[in-house]
Amino acid sequence: MPTENTNFNDPEELKEEILKKYPRKVAKKRAKSMITNDPDQIQEIQSNVRTIPGIITQRGCTYAGCKGVVLGPTRDVINLTHGPIGCGFYSWLTRRNQTRPPSEDPNDKLNGENYISYCFSTDMQDENIVFGGEKKLKAAIMEAYDLFKPKAISVFSTCPIGLIGDDVHQVAKEAKKELGINVFGFSCEGYRGVSQSAGHHIANNGLLTHVVGRNDDGPEGKFKVNLLGEYNIGGDAFVLEEMFEELGITLVSTFSGNSTITSFEQAHTADLNMVMCHRSINYIAEMMETKYGIPWIKVNFIGAEATAKALRKIGEYFEDKELIDKIEQYITKKLGEVKVVVDKAKAVTSGKLAMLFVGGSRAHSYQELFKELEMETISAGYEFAHRDDYEGREVLPNIKIDADSRNIEELHVTQDTEKFELRKSDDDRARLESKGFKFSNYDGMMADMKKNAFVVDDITHWETEKLVEFFKPAVFCAGIKEKYAVQKMGVPLKQLHSYDYGGPYAGFEGAVNFYTDMERIVGTKIWDLITPPWKGEPEIVGTVGV
Ligand code: SF4
Repeated sequence: MPTENTNFNDPEELKEEILKKYPRKVAKKRAKSMITNDPDQIQEIQSNVRTIPGIITQRGCTYAGCKGVVLGPTRDVINLTHGPIGCGFYSWLTRRNQTRPPSEDPNDKLNGENYISYCFSTDMQDENIVFGGEKKLKAAIMEAYDLFKPKAISVFSTCPIGLIGDDVHQVAKEAKKELGINVFGFSCEGYRGVSQSAGHHIANNGLLTHVVGRNDDGPEGKFKVNLLGEYNIGGDAFVLEEMFEELGITLVSTFSGNSTITSFEQAHTADLNMVMCHRSINYIAEMMETKYGIPWIKVNFIGAEATAKALRKIGEYFEDKELIDKIEQYITKKLGEVKVVVDKAKAVTSGKLAMLFVGGSRAHSYQELFKELEMETISAGYEFAHRDDYEGREVLPNIKIDADSRNIEELHVTQDTEKFELRKSDDDRARLESKGFKFSNYDGMMADMKKNAFVVDDITHWETEKLVEFFKPAVFCAGIKEKYAVQKMGVPLKQLHSYDYGGPYAGFEGAVNFYTDMERIVGTKIWDLITPPWKGEPEIVGTVGV
């Protein structure tokens, strides 16, 4: 049951108890993925390693990361799954990515194209698996084109496709030639990586290779930016788009919330890349810096204070007095509006505990919102992060390249001879850095968490249950796989992949929504009235051999 608990004692005892239940080899492996945090020490956490079979993980597959996460929110590309229907069906509309409705304006360049609500798949059957599915894929591309006349079609390989060896790239190449539109494929078979993380990397590579840089006709503006790693869950991107517009900042493209294929093609015309979800998108930020000369900075628009900080960082980057003043006035106005709501919510939330076990960013970024509510994040971890997401980018040179990492192509990117333009000279960078400005930097989650907070990578269901029992948090943030098990234990679970039916939570308006939702979730007494079924029924207890 959710009770106040300000116990930040060393959770090593809990770790021992969790590990005791595992067979010896499993315990040895899992022990490296659990850290009692100490921000003053250098600590190494095991992450981005394969989940142990038999453990109930939160993770998705490589295909899910490529098609579901990165390309999924783009409205005017037909995302065609080459594989059995299950892969396509279960990666369809599960993240509540929103997009603008088709416009009735005849001058709208999009022509009302919006394919997000469709699920396209080759629906591979037994005979296609035995005799090959390339013909079926080609026919599906042609059919999709005949029906919708899209400006681009992307093809995603699922596990069976990799196993039977269909060459999706060759089929895409032929279709591109025949149709005269951009058709490109992704070798993102589910088994290819440790988790969906591999799919993000593959998506980043594909977008840079086949899409970015194809259209120089980007929007005009004095301050042109791209927002990377924002997926418009529950309308987050809408809030941010309005904010940038009010401030006179031109958003060339968002990868990929409320995005269009044209905006991706024009992304190289921006002067700054802002990275929100570091894990899913840092690759494209790095590659665009090398290829086009666009610097990247880490930002977080989740939380009112975090949003203010990120906006100030944009102002500092562009070094424009008018923009800086405008940002300050905007922040003062917005923080004033936010304060009334957060103060009211704090009467309920202050001192309560939160846990976050979500993707590759949200387990960190949402801690800002909890801080604003005076709640403590007692335990957190990522589903698909790598060590740098926990420990900061300075560990990059020490990360061991293993067989799984080698499985994912590292693009060899060089300067574009025509389109490279250095946005900040070495002198400009040095001057900004001397004032504390950080380029290409991310300190990771552990630096921001308190001493003795418990950090767990790729948490299992068993570990989730033990953590909930031990800490009795006021709220647990995760996804649908954990939702009902945690709620049966009397603890509310807020989905942070899809926001349940809530949101937006980004920017100042989003922060207000989150405060209000948390006040209600944490404040309700309903959870105290729940008796989990196992309390009144016999329980079967078993042991597992090594
Ligand atoms: S793991 Fe393979 S079969 Fe399963 S959903 Fe992912 S791509 Fe499809």
